Amino acid sequence: MSGAAGAGGVTPLARLLAARIADEGPISVAAYMQACLHDPVHGYYRKQAAIGAGGDFVTAPEISQVFGELIGLWCAVVWQQMGEPGRVRIVELGPGRGTLMRDALRAARLVPAFHRAMSVDLVETNTTLVAAQRACLTDAAVPIRWSDDLQPSSAPSIVIANEFLDTLPVAQWVFRGGRWLGRRVGLAGSGELAFVEDSSGDEPSSSPPPHIAATGDGDIFETRAPAFAKWAAKFAALRVSTAALFIDYGHAEPGLGDTLQAVRGHRYDDPLRAPGESDLTAQVDFAAFAAEVSRHGFNCDGPLAQGEFLGRLGIVERASRLMEANPGKALEIESGALRLMSPGGMGSRFYALGVRSKGLATLPGFDRVDSGAAAP
Ligand code: SAH
Repeated sequence: MSGAAGAGGVTPLARLLAARIADEGPISVAAYMQACLHDPVHGYYRKQAAIGAGGDFVTAPEISQVFGELIGLWCAVVWQQMGEPGRVRIVELGPGRGTLMRDALRAARLVPAFHRAMSVDLVETNTTLVAAQRACLTDAAVPIRWSDDLQPSSAPSIVIANEFLDTLPVAQWVFRGGRWLGRRVGLAGSGELAFVEDSSGDEPSSSPPPHIAATGDGDIFETRAPAFAKWAAKFAALRVSTAALFIDYGHAEPGLGDTLQAVRGHRYDDPLRAPGESDLTAQVDFAAFAAEVSRHGFNCDGPLAQGEFLGRLGIVERASRLMEANPGKALEIESGALRLMSPGGMGSRFYALGVRSKGLATLPGFDRVDSGAAAP
């Protein structure tokens, strides 16, 4: 962390945003989040190391190597289902420290023809993390290309994204006096950033869909419709056979509630306190994302709770084999796997969603979906 949030908790980005708001008026929560994460100079995902014990939060691949290994094997089975094409591209969106890809590539060696066919594209905006990824993947025996956006390719593509969708900007609406008002970030009397409601009624198009019934004054509805549409359009524009796996924290059904959260040094923080210096995310509405990619011509599998999904991919068997091979690390391996699976924690708060081009079969792990776990 840069620690630039000095006296009063004001960061350089907070000062810039305050000046912008004084000039233009309150900005949407989505615009605020976009600035906090991606401002070219001060954005959190432009520079912060973010992930890992020394960063702000820990993710599944950092908890257990089994997570990335299972995803590597998942990719191999998808490749087999695609008819074992001679060239296949593995794309990872937001690869963090590169840990997931490193573990996935190690597991992929178990299927030599797949390993020979693959090239890897890492899509990353954070230069600090790109450096970490390069260091982590020096021994990778496959071609790796970095870029800050999804690149075209003529090869069939398998996309993986863990905790990527939760970083996309979210807009919020507040139900007030019988109608929905845009929730915005403005300035309090003291000059500090504060949430305000836009009663002008001239909010842009994406107001809450009619099937979301507000129950009371102050209800909050969140939507990532514009960001989801943008990414769905990018996948569709590839025009190659594409399978994707999205894993994130969120909910399977649309709902109400303010889920915007800031995390800094492994602790929750006020989302307005340290713009640019805390990680800002909100829960992923998987039904909304599934609806958007479906509109762009894809089929969806799931969402399935992470615990269920990893169970189906064989996490128990894989962790057991690893424990037998590394008795000295058995406890660590077991506790990592248990944490990913825990019913009240990551196992149920995270979901996996499969997305595939029409013509591809149901993706591995998503067949036999139990009643109640299927996407609407
Ligand atoms: N998948 C990793 C990291 C998750 S954190 C893991 O599981 O450990 C989110 C990641 O997405 C970070 O690497 C961040 O820098 C990256 N990121 C955020 N927004 C992005 C964008 N618009 N384009 C590309 N990468 C982005």
